[in-house]
Amino acid sequence: MLFLIGTRDSNLKNGVILNEKCPKCKSENELYFSIYRKYTHITLIPLFPVGKSVFIKCNHCQENFDYEDLSESTQLQLRNEKLDNSIWMFSGSAVLALLLIFTINNYFDQKDETRLLIKNPVEGDIYNLKLSNGCYSNMRIDKVTKDSIYTTHNDFDAYLPYEADDLDKAENYSNRQAAYSKTALIQLYENDEIIKIKRSEYPMEPQKSEYFPITK
Ligand SMILES: [Zn+2]
Repeated sequence: MLFLIGTRDSNLKNGVILNEKCPKCKSENELYFSIYRKYTHITLIPLFPVGKSVFIKCNHCQENFDYEDLSESTQLQLRNEKLDNSIWMFSGSAVLALLLIFTINNYFDQKDETRLLIKNPVEGDIYNLKLSNGCYSNMRIDKVTKDSIYTTHNDFDAYLPYEADDLDKAENYSNRQAAYSKTALIQLYENDEIIKIKRSEYPMEPQKSEYFPITK
């Protein structure tokens, strides 16, 4: 996905400056102002406002002026212009904040779940591993005894943590068997070498033999 970051101007207010003469042609009540607020956006989704700018133009002589060209009282008047709430300019930030909260929450939920599952390994569990070479892979638990587990390691490694999920295919576990004591397993977890545990939900569909003919 391509993200475009930039700034845009949003016109907040326009009007006439009353009781102020044009610095050039001296006409009164001919100065028009436009107030803009600049905001940053990411792919056109507003993140937050970054500044205000004002454009002033004389309707009589068509000259443009800077804010500084005006009298102090007019500058103050412009500064005090009531502007509409531009809270929408934060909408992208709000979405990002929610996303961040969700991700952090998810991370801790997953960590909690892993902490629970590691204490009670079950046949069929898939452990996502961080290997000593910095790569990621998985192992499948084949057998659990009172104090040990027997596993088959995935034939493949991945470079990124989430790619380990993609490696988890039945045909990728061929012959890399290993055994660990349950204590060693906890140790691996505590060393952050076990980063995720996936326990398959056992299918709850009833067996064929459990179907009973409905009799009237
Ligand atoms: Zn003028």
